[in-house]
Order: sequence, then structure tokens, then C-alpha cells
Amino acid sequence: MAEHPAPVVLLDVDDVLIDWSGGFHPWMLARGAIRDPGGAASWDLCGSYPGLAWGEILAEINAFARSDSYRDMPLRDGAAREVAALRAAGCDVYAVTCCGTDPAILANREHQLRDLPLKGVFPLDHSDPKAPIYARFLPGAVVVDDAPKHLETAMRFGHAAIAYDAPWNGSVRCTDRMRDWTLGAIRIIRNLGLVAA
Ligand SMILES: [Mg+2]
Repeated sequence: MAEHPAPVVLLDVDDVLIDWSGGFHPWMLARGAIRDPGGAASWDLCGSYPGLAWGEILAEINAFARSDSYRDMPLRDGAAREVAALRAAGCDVYAVTCCGTDPAILANREHQLRDLPLKGVFPLDHSDPKAPIYARFLPGAVVVDDAPKHLETAMRFGHAAIAYDAPWNGSVRCTDRMRDWTLGAIRIIRNLGLVAA
């Protein structure tokens, strides 16, 4: 008899497993950038740094990603515990991250995730869609992300989409929300199969 596939959980990293914004904004201030706190609702950061073009912001994102400040960013409180609980419950847990594919950045990302018992990591470039990764799994997986475009894509593929609270995703269509990792494993397990069923 064919083995039943394990439930799948696909986790974003930046602003989900790691407080990326909490590391990037101090980096920018140290580089002399002027931040508009009123622009926090802008997911692409152009609202936060109205004096900079997207290309300039992207260059800083990549410089930050190669830095020790990025390498040493801790996981959010409870993330390692809850991912371990998901694995113990029989889930296959993957990270899907648009961090870039530069080897130096990937090495830093691998260091950040070293304490997570992930089954695998799918690294993508910054502007890549996550659709090809979501399409690899049967409908009914759970995706946790903060970016509206990725949450909407997850729903299109029949996956449950949990929005990790951020100023830029308050109105996104999703199956559930989480504000931190407290009871995160239970919340994710409750959403497994929610859409495909
Ligand atoms: Mg993110």
C-alpha cells in the first residue's frame, strides 16, 4: 500500500521566523537613511524610505544580508520550539525564503536556521514568485507568510494561508493569522487541509 504523504508546512523566514524588519531598519539608520515611520504599511519598503529608489533599497537589503548583523539575527521567541513540535507531530516543515541565492547570503541564512529541525529550505531570489514551490505539494498544506502576494498565491494552490501579523497585511485574504509563535504548532495543525477539504 502506498504510504500516505506527511502533512506539509511551508514557512517564510523574514518577518515570520526572524524579525527581519527589526534588524534591517537599524542597519539603514546606521547607514544614514531617513525612515518615515508612517510608511510601515508599505510591504516593499519604498514607503519607509521615500528618498530612496527601489534599486537603492535592494542594494542595502543585499549588503545587510551579507553582514554579520544579519548572520547573527536570532529566531523569534518560540519558533524553534514550535517547529520542533510540528516535526514531532509528523509534519514535513520547509522554509521558503526570497533571501537571494548569493552563496554568502545563503551561508548566513543557513546559520540563522541552524537550530530548526527543518526538512529542507527553498531559497529564491528577491523578486521570485513562490508559486513553483507551492505547486510541488498537494493542496492542503499550510503556508505561513507576511507578504500578501505570497499568501494570495498559497490560497490559489489550495493551501491554507496563515498571515503573520505585519502592518502591511491587515486586509489580506487568509485562513488564519498569528501574531507570534505562542501555540504556533497547534494553530498551524488546525489549518492543515482546511482549504483543500
Ligand atoms: Mg517575509
